[in-house]
Amino acid sequence: MPEPARLTGSRDAKEGFHMPDRSIRTEEAANYPSGVGLLSDPGLNKGTAFTEAEREAFGLRGLLPPRAITQVEQLMRVLGNLRRKANDIEKYIFLVSLQDRNETLFYRLVMDHLDEMMPIIYTPTVGQACQEYGHIFRRPRGLFISAEDRGRVADVLRNWPKREVRMIVVTDGERILGLGDLGANGMGIPVGKLALYVACGGVHPTACLPVTLDVGTENAALLADPLYLGLPQRRLRGAAYDELLDEFIVAAQEVFPKAVIQFEDFGNANAFRLLHRYRDRVCCFSDDIQGTAAMALAGVYSALRVTGGRLADQSFVFLGAGEAGLGIGDLIVTALIADGMPEADARRRCWFVDSKGLIVRGRTDLVPHKRPYAHEGEFAPDLLAAVERLKPNAIIGVSGTAGVFTRPVVEAMARFNERPIIFALSNPTSKSECTAEEAYAWSNGRALFASGSPFAPVLVNGRTYVPGQGNNAYIFPAIGLGVIAAEAKRITDEMFFVAAKSLANQVTAADLDLGRLYPPFTRIRTVSAAIATAVAELAYERGLAQHPRPADLSAFVRSRMYEPVYRSYVEWSDG
Ligand code: NAD
Repeated sequence: MPEPARLTGSRDAKEGFHMPDRSIRTEEAANYPSGVGLLSDPGLNKGTAFTEAEREAFGLRGLLPPRAITQVEQLMRVLGNLRRKANDIEKYIFLVSLQDRNETLFYRLVMDHLDEMMPIIYTPTVGQACQEYGHIFRRPRGLFISAEDRGRVADVLRNWPKREVRMIVVTDGERILGLGDLGANGMGIPVGKLALYVACGGVHPTACLPVTLDVGTENAALLADPLYLGLPQRRLRGAAYDELLDEFIVAAQEVFPKAVIQFEDFGNANAFRLLHRYRDRVCCFSDDIQGTAAMALAGVYSALRVTGGRLADQSFVFLGAGEAGLGIGDLIVTALIADGMPEADARRRCWFVDSKGLIVRGRTDLVPHKRPYAHEGEFAPDLLAAVERLKPNAIIGVSGTAGVFTRPVVEAMARFNERPIIFALSNPTSKSECTAEEAYAWSNGRALFASGSPFAPVLVNGRTYVPGQGNNAYIFPAIGLGVIAAEAKRITDEMFFVAAKSLANQVTAADLDLGRLYPPFTRIRTVSAAIATAVAELAYERGLAQHPRPADLSAFVRSRMYEPVYRSYVEWSDG
């Protein structure tokens, strides 16, 4: 194997260009593995795109078919192979395998075809992948910490091969998407979400750590499944659960001191509890609560650009008082307080209808996280009655229940508002509170509509409307990127508020004309960079940043964004 040598003259190896024997490893690549070791490292592997010079320098001759091809040619092949797969779960398996063998090519493919890849690497296909995890399992990805690991969680974290972890997504699998308790099968979610951190936000893949806390499951079908790969036991609860969580948080800070921790798909009670417990002590956030909130608030700000109204003059009725709904309510309250409104007044702008009816002071069946929104007022048994009585400017559906934005509800909203704000955010499409077509048709084209799942453009009264998809991927990758860039100590509600404003500001007049309340996803990298810069700026303003402030923060943030391009591992020596 040629030793790294002092260069007497060098030029970049061209793809497929035949290089005689005097190619040497770049300084950076001097310690890379060679031969099969290099081909087996997904972060370094280029597969058939290794150039002649690299094959020479890294002992790859004979281990690859002779002709070196370009990444563009590789993309043609993998895209063709992907599209030949019979269904989405096969496509998911194909993509995960690609990620396992050539990360750069995987991200190039995902980023160049984001609209096509997102529904496979994330919702809805990732949900099926989680359900079938033990059956489609090929090789592990991410770190499993089980109830059996109590007392040695730091050791488990140290088994992770990368030291530069900056972004941890952790789940305990209790409430995976809308699919409930999937136990250790939930690993697909941190894995998928981190792929979006990379693709949408440019967080470097080596900085990402997916973690599943396997504390057991209540899912009887999984417990009975011989191929289930998690601990076959009921969920850990109470003090034992809290101790494991505490140990994990402390160990993660010790082993990966610069890492952001994102809580993901925890059950309702734990999600609120964990956020409350750790948010002021640790650099952490909950995307289900806070990321969703910023996405929805951005949609509201965009809608207000159309109506010309002020946030302070709006009132909201939420259907569903879970993580998403209460998170959005809390962020609207944060935004109103920032505008100078007293907190009590701000909260009264947000009313919630849960499965038992309007949440009012007189109700005795409310869990603690709903109580801040139990206002004085008359009980209404359902959404229509609540809308008729409260005459809100906006209804926000986060109930996970299809069809509950009925025609009478939408018609009532259109009676009270020239441009009613109607967000049907429940996923997947089959659970949307109403369809885009229903919202536009029943409001005579006046609804300012956004949905959680994508809807095709709708033709109403001869006009085409392009419904906005309120995807959290507009927010969480950018929050991660901004917090990492500034090395912020904490993640505050104000950061989500700033992220929402930045996102709304990036919706163009042309987008709004089409009915779009969010920018098209094709602009996601630019959008993420701008949001991340705003978040990092806030971290500096509030004294939370630990990284020295660069003169040009925006350029600095953009320079930190990962690009899936092959680097040259060799240089050329004439000597
Ligand atoms: P959750 O389980 O925490 O809360 C759902 C709440 O809705 C529960 O409180 C439940 O009691 C209530 N509910 C159920 N049926 C109802 C009905 N018929 N009427 C009134 N209330 C009802 O779940 P979550 O995390 O808050 O998510 C809720 C929905 O929002 C899911 O469908 C999820 O996919 C969606 N969501 C979308 C986005 C997005 O669009 N980007 C982000 C997060 C969540």
